[in-house]
Order: sequence, then C-alpha cells, then structure tokens
Amino acid sequence: MTIPNEKSAASGPASHPASPETQNLDETARIARDLIRMDTTNWGEGRAEGETEAAEYVNAHLESIGLKPSIYESQPGRTSVVARIPGRDRSKPALVVHGHLDVVPADPADWTFDPFAGEIHDGLLWGRGAVDMKNMDAMILTAVGDILRAGESPERDLVIAFFADEEDGGLFGSHFMVDEHPDVFEGATEAISEVGGYSVDIAGRRAYLLQTGEKSLVWIRLVARGRAAHGSRMVADNAVTKLAEAVVAIGRHEWPLRLTDTTTQLVGELARLLDVDPVALGPDEVVLRSGTASGFIRATLRTTSNPTLLKAGYKHNVVPERAEALVDIRTLAGEEDDVLAQVREIVGDDVDIEIVHRDIGLEAPFAGPLVDAMTGALLQHDADATVLPYLLSGGTDNKALSRLGITGYGFAPLKLPADMDFPAMFHGVDERVPLDSLVFGRTVLRHLLSTY
Ligand SMILES: [Zn+2]
Repeated sequence: MTIPNEKSAASGPASHPASPETQNLDETARIARDLIRMDTTNWGEGRAEGETEAAEYVNAHLESIGLKPSIYESQPGRTSVVARIPGRDRSKPALVVHGHLDVVPADPADWTFDPFAGEIHDGLLWGRGAVDMKNMDAMILTAVGDILRAGESPERDLVIAFFADEEDGGLFGSHFMVDEHPDVFEGATEAISEVGGYSVDIAGRRAYLLQTGEKSLVWIRLVARGRAAHGSRMVADNAVTKLAEAVVAIGRHEWPLRLTDTTTQLVGELARLLDVDPVALGPDEVVLRSGTASGFIRATLRTTSNPTLLKAGYKHNVVPERAEALVDIRTLAGEEDDVLAQVREIVGDDVDIEIVHRDIGLEAPFAGPLVDAMTGALLQHDADATVLPYLLSGGTDNKALSRLGITGYGFAPLKLPADMDFPAMFHGVDERVPLDSLVFGRTVLRHLLSTY
C-alpha cells in the first residue's frame, strides 16, 4: 500500500492536503487510486510491467481481510492472485469473481491529467484503469472486505481472482491459470467480471447493460509478396500495391447483419424504451438512437474487420518485396471459420493470410438464478432503472474460464451520470469514474455476493 513512484507521490494526496475530496475518501476509491498509480501497462507480445507490484498489493489486501491468497507467476513479472472464500452452503457451485491488473498503454501527452497519477477532480477519479478495470478490482476487494469484516460469509464459495495479461489475450494470466492451475476454480460454474453492469441513458431512462456474451476474435496478418526493384522502374508486381488493394477490400467490406438471442432481445428492449417500431426502423437504426451505448452495441450486430497496422518498405526509391498488414476481425460466436473463408475471397489470391491469434466467442442466456440475482441487486439499489442484456464486441478473461465450463457475465455495477459516455472510455483517453459510482458498485456487489 505504498505509493509506487515519485511521479505519483508528487501528485498524490500529500500535494493536495486540503482537498476535501481526498480526505474521507471511500476505501474503494482509495484502492482504485493506488492501483492506477502502479503503471501496469501491457504492451502486448509478452511485454508488460508492474503486474507483480499490483498483484502484491492485492495479495496484501486480501491477507488483511483474513484470506489466504496465492500468487501465481506464469513468467517473471506476469503475476496473478487468487483466493477462495468458503461459502455458507458449500453444496452450491462456486462463483468466480475476477478482474485483471494490467492496462493498455497511455500516452500522457493525450491526457488532461497524468494517466498514472490517480488524480481526483470534481468527484471523479482519473487515470488509466479508472474504467478498465481497476475500478472493479477495487470494488471486488471492498465488497468482499465488507462481508468478511462484518463476520459474514458469502452464500456460496467465491473464487476471487486477479489476472495478469488480460489486455493481450490472457496467455500469461487467465489462460495460464486455466491450463496450469485449474484446481483453483474447482466447483465453479459461473463467473462475473468486467465490461457490463454499468448504466447508460436511453431516452431519459437509466438502463444497466448486463453483459451476457462476447464476440470471437480472429487476428490475422495479410502478407503480399512481389519483386524488389528500383523505385524508378515500371513495376507490375508491387507488394505494397497488392497489399493496399487487400486492405481496402477488407476495411471497406460491409458485413451482413446477424442477430443472436442477446441482440434480438436487446434491440427489442431498446425499441420499447425508445418507443419506436423495430421492424420498420431496423436494428441498426434502433441502436443508433440509443445514445452513448450505440458505439458499443452496433459492432455486435455483425462481423467487423478493421485493418490496424501496416508494415512495408525501407527507402523512398526501393520497391520492397514484402508488405504486411494486421487486421482485427471480430465475429459472432461460432462464425470464425465461415468468416475466414469469406476473408480469403475478399482479399484475393495475391495475398497470404496468417492467423496470429484467435479466441472463441461466448453467449449465455439472459435468464437463470445468477442473472436474476444480478438484476435484483441492481434494482434493489436503483429501483427505477431497467436492466438489459448485451453482447461485448471485445473479449475478457471469461473466454479462458469458459474452457473449464464456467459461464461468465460482465457485471461491474456502476450507476453513472446520464451524460457520461462511459463505453467510449474503455482503452480511450481521460478514463475517469465518479467516486459515488464506486460506492454504488461496492454496495451492489456486496449485496450480490452475500446473497447469491
Ligand atoms: Zn478490461
């Protein structure tokens, strides 16, 4: 629980001694702020920093509330922490409550405040991870702490897990744990974690988006090969030109609409809240009218394929013999091979496709005891709201846990101001979360974990 580096110390509470916001700070905000001040940037391709420091911090906190956590290192510096809390009814399947400790990179030049300083302004905690997902990490720690310090137990066994490497597919975190230490999840059938359970404003009504599934990911590399030549010559077989044609084709391709159970239900509910006819408008238009959530939801109505990186050439007057592009493809669950076959046709025969990484999609029903319990916990503390299912266009560690037959949901409950575009802040700049939303999340999670 130390302040990790000089930069943080300079902008930490010591420099704002009189600020009423930083005095009497709720424990959840304090922990989230401490975690934000630990730079746990995951650069991808196995390169990350700070995860061990954050894991040790979390480990110390879990010990301080009476648990016996274990630390797991997949590689030096790639550290996860897991603790089990015995439930009152040990015949019930265990629930995994998990978060990740890493964050995506942040360039301080783009941010209003230093992304690793954990500054508090106007009732908001700022910093990389304030949204994704050191907020929820802190909510998990305090909700569990509230239960244990009150001398209570959760209803069922809880497996509290904080993973490394979520932001790069989880090979050094959740996938490692599932492969090498599946025993820590023994008896677990369900999980809750990030990117769901937060509120959005839909036609003046507060709606909580409960995440019931995730799209699949297929990350490919397109490789075009041609003849190296002097840049002044007539060159028909130009790798850069061939690659560019493929990139345009895949980047501009319009994938057809396809609704799943979750999105069918969501579009129907959105239309009801918006008081529009979903058949007349069509799903895209219904979603477009749903406000800040639309950016997140539209991508779940179909496959998406975004070129994200280009690499070719080394000198202005040399035609290179190779050019490559990375494309981030997200499909609906089970459509990966179909989509890959179509991508093959779209990019043409002149370009090779290499699969860099792929992972499955998930979809769970918006029904059943856990969904009822999550919905009930939200409505208990925000009676006027409504709860909707949604599909996540990205992925979470629930993909790894699904390999053990664990059904995962996104439930990091936050009651947010109507004008806050929270979904846009995932991996965006100026991540920030209201302090009172963290208190709400702590309360709702505590309610859920002690009653479900
Ligand atoms: Zn995340």
